[in-house]
Amino acid sequence: MAKKSKDQCEECSGLCCRYFALPIETPEDKGDYDDIRWYLCHKDITVFVEDGDWYLNVKNKCRHLSGKDHRCLIYDKRPRICRGYRHGTCDYVEGEYDYELHFTNDKQMAEYIKIKFHNNVKEKKKLKRKNAKAKKGQR
Ligand code: SF4
Ligand code: SF4
Repeated sequence: MAKKSKDQCEECSGLCCRYFALPIETPEDKGDYDDIRWYLCHKDITVFVEDGDWYLNVKNKCRHLSGKDHRCLIYDKRPRICRGYRHGTCDYVEGEYDYELHFTNDKQMAEYIKIKFHNNVKEKKKLKRKNAKAKKGQR
């Protein structure tokens, strides 16, 4: 959150204090995608891909965001991440995100896995080769 004296922040309901996103490893095989499906089984979790990087998004507001006027209740002691946040390119001005992929629930990911691995001949062959290699390694 930027300084609340900025007009922009005055008009905003503290959008930047209502979630956080963490980078996650880019999924490679079906198991990795299924792990992400597990994340998405949980409430208020979404997963998005931006510039090829995967992120886990936790839609949970900060406990220090005032419910009355959307101000930071610990402004002078707010964490480094909040201090470094720039209102010039924040959620309020950026508008709609242009994600390459955005999953909001596990069903979407299940469908994605089905298309990517079950209906996709190239991926099927890749998976077959990988499984064969793994079996060889076990011998
Ligand atoms: S999203 Fe932007 S305008 Fe809204 S509080 Fe955060 S920095 Fe201010
Ligand atoms: S500490 Fe303050 S600025 Fe940081 S996320 Fe929470 S309410 Fe927003």
